[in-house]
Amino acid sequence: MKIGCPKEIKPQEFRVGMTPNAAHEAVAHGHSVLIQAGAGVGAGFADEDYIAAGAEIAGNASDVFAKADMIVKVKEPQAGERKMLRECQLLFTYLHLAPDPEQTKDLLASGCTAIAYETVTDRNGGLPLLAPMSEVAGRLAPQVGAWTLQKANGGRGVLMGGVPGVGPARVAVIGGGVVGTHAARIAAGMGADVTVLDRSLPRMRYLDDVYGGTFKTSYASAGNTAELVAEADMVIGAVLIPGAAAPKLVTREQLSSMKQGAAIVDVAIDQGGCFETSKATTHEDPIYDVDGIMHYCVANMPGAVARTSTIALGNATMPFMLALADKGWKQACADDPHLLEGLNVHAGKLTYFAVGKALGMDV
Ligand code: NAD
Repeated sequence: MKIGCPKEIKPQEFRVGMTPNAAHEAVAHGHSVLIQAGAGVGAGFADEDYIAAGAEIAGNASDVFAKADMIVKVKEPQAGERKMLRECQLLFTYLHLAPDPEQTKDLLASGCTAIAYETVTDRNGGLPLLAPMSEVAGRLAPQVGAWTLQKANGGRGVLMGGVPGVGPARVAVIGGGVVGTHAARIAAGMGADVTVLDRSLPRMRYLDDVYGGTFKTSYASAGNTAELVAEADMVIGAVLIPGAAAPKLVTREQLSSMKQGAAIVDVAIDQGGCFETSKATTHEDPIYDVDGIMHYCVANMPGAVARTSTIALGNATMPFMLALADKGWKQACADDPHLLEGLNVHAGKLTYFAVGKALGMDV
């Protein structure tokens, strides 16, 4: 199979769909790989790295789309890219079709087969192609929160780990899933005093078994949440209710109970955010002040560390990409029901129930 990887064109997207390592594996499996010139530059991969891995370099995106049997990307195809997709071509990338009727219509019209990273599942009910980005965002959260706490950025001027004779920052993490656990580990590693709030007792039992002594857990009742938020120097929002907007767990009124200059890092902002005062921001202008509380609400946090994110995403997508290339999508999906869950569009038909329901379209 010929696998094509174009350069991402969505603003501020520096990741790339295939690493040189992924290209090398695909070539070793007998496939040919066509990478658009400069596609890997934002993630620190030069064209020469891909050539050394056995890939060919294409001068422009239209060449990649015209020649490849399968297109591997990161973000959903933009309008110009969608025009280049064609019947019988396989698209493997993040799609997020539910809130995007324009993209859905274009993919249906193209006749392509589209497998979405975000709906591929694993045997534990997890989302293996979303998890790496949650890991990145979780580990990044205390880092950006620590920066937000610095005086020059409007913060309280508190150092995460304190120093001998001065206590550490207090960090409350709301939601103890993938993002929350990684955030808590890094915040604790920086020396902060960390408590994770969750509503799932099995999850808190797991966290206590594995991380007891590193950070504390607390049941996320409204009372406990209010108390820990009021005491915190930093609050990290990391809740998720699958398929729903994030619940608003901290009201604007509650900000007045918080310490002046405390930092809020609302990682759940891509689902609307779990603080009433959250609104999405960008890497160019990431923080804003509401009533003296500094908010960091960047919706695509992994983009800040494009190299780490690209490699982490590539590690997760590679086995699926190889299965699709080796067997063709029909056999690969027949052999793996979790990959089949990723199928969103085929030959002009929607094939994912939740997307059809959200858009009021037949599946
Ligand atoms: P997850 O499903 O692994 O974890 C969510 C946790 O929230 C679960 O443990 C659940 O029990 C808990 N929870 C649900 N309702 C709660 C409540 N009312 N109070 C306390 N805890 C509650 O999800 P995840 O992968 O950790 O993702 C968390 C959020 O981060 C999602 O909204 C995800 O989209 C977002 N995210 C954002 C970025 C970004 O760049 N901003 C990147 C990756 C993920």
